[in-house]
Amino acid sequence: MHFHPSLVGAKALLVALVLSLCATSTAKSEDIINVDTSGVAPQYRFAFDQAEAFWDKHIIGYSRLLPRFVRRQLGDINIVATTPFIDGAGGILGSAAPTRTVDFAGGAVDKFGTRRSISISQAGIMNFDIADLPGLQTSGDLVDVVMHEMAHALGFGSLWEQNDVTWADADDVTQYRYDGHAMEKYRQESGVTSATFIPLEQDGGGGTALSHWDDDDPFFNQTTTTGRAELMLGALLPAQQFVSGSTFGSFADLWFVVDGINNGEQDNPIRSGRRPPKTWGGYPDWLSIRAASISAVPEPGSLAMIAVIAGFGLIRRRR
Ligand SMILES: [Zn+2]
Repeated sequence: MHFHPSLVGAKALLVALVLSLCATSTAKSEDIINVDTSGVAPQYRFAFDQAEAFWDKHIIGYSRLLPRFVRRQLGDINIVATTPFIDGAGGILGSAAPTRTVDFAGGAVDKFGTRRSISISQAGIMNFDIADLPGLQTSGDLVDVVMHEMAHALGFGSLWEQNDVTWADADDVTQYRYDGHAMEKYRQESGVTSATFIPLEQDGGGGTALSHWDDDDPFFNQTTTTGRAELMLGALLPAQQFVSGSTFGSFADLWFVVDGINNGEQDNPIRSGRRPPKTWGGYPDWLSIRAASISAVPEPGSLAMIAVIAGFGLIRRRR
């Protein structure tokens, strides 16, 4: 008995095809963040490389719940870093914002069954005060500060409203929405299992308020307990910075696939059809690629890191 050679060949080919399909479907990690550091002095570039590597490791693609015609518009996110003089040593350390987004007001239905608008960062800019760079490098905070601003360039705080993840409660205080991936994580990690929203920073004015987690929250600000503070607070606190599941969850709410949060998402043929249902109407107008000039983005999420450095003791802004 012998196998027909061509049949063996066909079987081998089939196995190879199946293997390559598996390889494709499990290779979920994409390097989608590119940071242009050509405008940054060479001795500081390590911090940008580390920050980019951090977010690239965790943010590994775009949600498969997005309509396909939206996903087709999405590519790499190019973030330019500059180091202008802003206000001298201390004060504002940096700012960041998306400069181009893919928007779809028709939205998509998230994992939790809520239809939300879509606005996804495709390009951004980060500015760091050149007067603060030497001090941040010396104090060892530079990587954290770059990670923080990069998060804003990716949409953290800067695109929440556009994605319907913030809402005003009965007292007209805007908070992070009542459901979603970030909420799920916050309930777990804060221990406040009955929390109905994630508290946002309400103080600090434009650029700080409503685009950071609340530093009055005992989970986000653990400086008096564990000595740690969350990365995405409105001020760089003198503490060991950590990145919470709430922050990772927020990126999942901004339609990214975040490792360990929502990488199990599968294509949903209804949610991600080639065309939105006819009842949505007018979709060519709704889908836009918006070029926003920096000056036109009044809430860059962060003229934010309001950390006043005095001899590298960090002074909190006044409440
Ligand atoms: Zn910020």
